[in-house]
Amino acid sequence: MRFIGYEAQCRQLAEAKSDPDCAWLSEAPAQVVQQTLKDLDLACRQHGTWKVRWKSKARWRPSFRFPTAKHIPVERISRKWGRVFLPKFGWVRFRLSRSLGGSVKSATVARDGKHWFISFLVDDGLGEDGVSSTAPPVEGGDGPGETGFVSAGEAIRYWRLERKLARSKKGSNRRRRVVRAMGDLMRRARWRRADFNAQTAHRLTRDNAIVTLEKLNVRAMTASVAPKPDPGKPGGYLPNGRAAKAGLNKSILDKGWYGLETALRSKARYTGTSIRVVDPAYTSQTCSNPLCGTVDAKSRESQADFRCTSCGHVEHADVNAAKNIKARGYAAGLVVSGRGDPPGSVKRQAPRTIARGVGDAPRAAA
Ligand SMILES: [Zn+2]
Repeated sequence: MRFIGYEAQCRQLAEAKSDPDCAWLSEAPAQVVQQTLKDLDLACRQHGTWKVRWKSKARWRPSFRFPTAKHIPVERISRKWGRVFLPKFGWVRFRLSRSLGGSVKSATVARDGKHWFISFLVDDGLGEDGVSSTAPPVEGGDGPGETGFVSAGEAIRYWRLERKLARSKKGSNRRRRVVRAMGDLMRRARWRRADFNAQTAHRLTRDNAIVTLEKLNVRAMTASVAPKPDPGKPGGYLPNGRAAKAGLNKSILDKGWYGLETALRSKARYTGTSIRVVDPAYTSQTCSNPLCGTVDAKSRESQADFRCTSCGHVEHADVNAAKNIKARGYAAGLVVSGRGDPPGSVKRQAPRTIARGVGDAPRAAA
């Protein structure tokens, strides 16, 4: 693997800055440009050059980072507002959405649609590793279930925009407008999702010592809702609000599931909650009665009902599965600490997957 590397690129950058065609480079804060080259260097080192691509002109969320705290003094000016000095920008006012809670290490400015955000990396003195707890699990399953993040109306609007997009010419103003409208719709849903993640993570970590998540199945990831053909219009389709809403919610849940895990891990650093991810295989067919534990596909009578074919135990199917997942999470903790591995060893880390999809409805067992 060969690439130019940070040092050489910095020399090229200095050269480019003296070129009148690239004068705009001098208008950007020098540290921000250097940081981008550092990030590129790190990306090449860690992932190889074949994974590094040019940013797409159309799908691009601009963001840049100010890496040095002393160059970006942050002040609070009122209860709700703060300001930060950004080199070459001057003082920039921002809405304080939460307290900083530590000393600022760096700042990242990013655009999401028509909104600009600034986020600060702070040192809260807790270090990067979570702490694990050996307290017994608390009773009671709880999860997001089928919480929707888009309304049927929004889903239909999105569906119409998709059709409009398909009919618009590439590079046209109309297409740009449609893409922007789609982005606005999706952003609202994404924010709702992020809000839900933060609140759920807060509640779960506050109330529980161990939170176990099931590793979701990738097999159903391609499942989508097919639109109904419009009989009155050859080649046309009928808007189907419920199906569109279900499909859209599903895609948001798919993408956001990892977000909940991230939020949980982040909150868990403060509460000492242990986050565990377990293999959910057969959890929906296993009897959660601790004296039984029979595995039988016939026990799952329907999507909602579980009735054990062996001991007659009756429970909501989701609650039954959540109890099994919880038991697995607890057992995983016992197995790991039983080995006496030193903290930080590979074995101590809970098994986790990055790829996620929907098999059963996502579920968190507390
Ligand atoms: Zn049973």
